Amino acid sequence: MLINLSDVLSDQHKTVEETVRLEMEEIRMKSGTYPIISKEPVHVRVEHIRGKELLVNAETRIVVAIPCDRCLDDVKREFVLDCAKHVDVGLSDAELTEELDESNFIDGYHLDVDKLLYGEILSDWPVKVLCREDCKGLCKVCGQNLNTGSCNCEEPGLDPRMSVVRDLFKNFKEV
Ligand SMILES: [Zn+2]
Ligand SMILES: [Zn+2]
Repeated sequence: MLINLSDVLSDQHKTVEETVRLEMEEIRMKSGTYPIISKEPVHVRVEHIRGKELLVNAETRIVVAIPCDRCLDDVKREFVLDCAKHVDVGLSDAELTEELDESNFIDGYHLDVDKLLYGEILSDWPVKVLCREDCKGLCKVCGQNLNTGSCNCEEPGLDPRMSVVRDLFKNFKEV
């Protein structure tokens, strides 16, 4: 969703408030694509400070489905976004990357709300996602979800004496 900023820029100290819809349906990252399962309208407020400087505020709440790191079940992760950005739309692209590298959401005189919030979501992205603290994960042999059932696979390396025998055998073979 693009918001035209030329109105705000035409008047000193003018403020524009709008409620818009987030257009993106999923979060695409290097690690994968994650569906947005619910989203609220985005409240955007743009305030003209001076010259071509603007203060951009955006507020919303979205829920993204992210697979659990251990068992791969979808986890509903809520992002409560409330960001304030100070941008200068008068600077050239080269200057922007040097001084205000976060303003890739400004395209000419348009504010790209999706891009702005995408950046916020990425910076909020959890390092670890677990469906629950004690998630047992998947069996490394057969893939059984160990939260919902057990399997008969032998856990490799369970008995330390066995691994000593294996190492001896390996050395023997190498000779
Ligand atoms: Zn899990
Ligand atoms: Zn198994």
